[in-house]
Amino acid sequence: MTYSASSQAEGQTPDIPDHAGDGRPRAKTRVVRVGTRFIGGDWPVAVQSMTKTDTRNVSATVEQIRALEHAGCEIVRVAVPDEEAARALGKIRAAIGIPLVADIHFDHRLALLALEQGVDKLRINPGNIGSRTNVKEVVAAARDRGVPIRIGVNEGSLEKEILAKYGAPTPQAMVQSALGHVQILEELGYEDIVISLKAFSVPRMVEAYRLMSRLRPYPLHLGVTEAGGGGPGLIRSAIGIGLLLMEGIGDTVRVSLTGPPEEEVVAAYEILRATERRQRGPTIISCPSCGRTQINLVAVASEVRARLAGVSAPVTVAVMGCAVNGPGEARDADFAIAGGKRSGLIYRRGKIVKKVPEDRLVDELVALVISSLEENDTRSFNFSEGGEHG
Ligand code: SF4
Repeated sequence: MTYSASSQAEGQTPDIPDHAGDGRPRAKTRVVRVGTRFIGGDWPVAVQSMTKTDTRNVSATVEQIRALEHAGCEIVRVAVPDEEAARALGKIRAAIGIPLVADIHFDHRLALLALEQGVDKLRINPGNIGSRTNVKEVVAAARDRGVPIRIGVNEGSLEKEILAKYGAPTPQAMVQSALGHVQILEELGYEDIVISLKAFSVPRMVEAYRLMSRLRPYPLHLGVTEAGGGGPGLIRSAIGIGLLLMEGIGDTVRVSLTGPPEEEVVAAYEILRATERRQRGPTIISCPSCGRTQINLVAVASEVRARLAGVSAPVTVAVMGCAVNGPGEARDADFAIAGGKRSGLIYRRGKIVKKVPEDRLVDELVALVISSLEENDTRSFNFSEGGEHG
């Protein structure tokens, strides 16, 4: 659509179309069961992470998975580089509460061992595990146990022939590589498939996922690989994953960051929240503060965020510096603070609850949020089924 001011009569506002044309409802994919969770279809976009411990070290791995669970991780993947790691999987799985995925490269015996140990999903590329007999064996064992397989293509590890054909790891090359693996499973009548097409290049991964979403109905696991750490890693992941989620593409996400894995989970939920695909835990709306602010807004906002970090209910909390935008945001939020002169008003569902001095603002707000949640006053919060938008 091109913009034309001349087509608009003077003094009239233009008719606003219902929809800008970009963005689509979430693509309908097949539903795949991963242990106690489901991926695809109308199920909420699942949040995954991967441990950074040596899988052979059961206690360290379990400890890290428990920390991930606490942060909201719903499916966890561990690297399985050798037989000892594969044999540790049963013990790990027995000690955790979320589905376990075994990440295996090249060795079909490790896949069989992982299945014996009771893993809930395999990440393995069937084209890389040798003969057709090997593949058949793994697929038969996975089918018997109702375990899905994720085919994970990375731009950095494409087959030589495919690279030679395309000259570079283009989105088309990545999709062709994935389809090669998919076809092997389809020929064996196996369709419990999840696909990932990860790249460091955001335009490349976005295009690869878009292409795949038009070609096959399997759930897509989104990720920007080797995104880095800190702000740059977060921004790269947020743009790549977020853009696809906004287009209705993606059934599960893993944010790959160089840092503690819990940060990946926090970031994944922030991306889901920002794209309005799913809300878990508090959404904190806070103004940037300006010359009108008469409280230490930065400190108040960060303390509110920290003190509510353990809440998993999807509440919206606004922390506003003054009365200019405060009441408006307070109206739409479950809870809010609007700063005044060394004091602030506390709101609950748009209604002023009390006025308190600045040094009591956080305590009073947090107490109000917690007591309201304890009352389980579902009418007052934006709870939907499971607190999530599918
Ligand atoms: S809400 Fe008030 S204090 Fe915050 S940025 Fe806006 S005008 Fe400034």
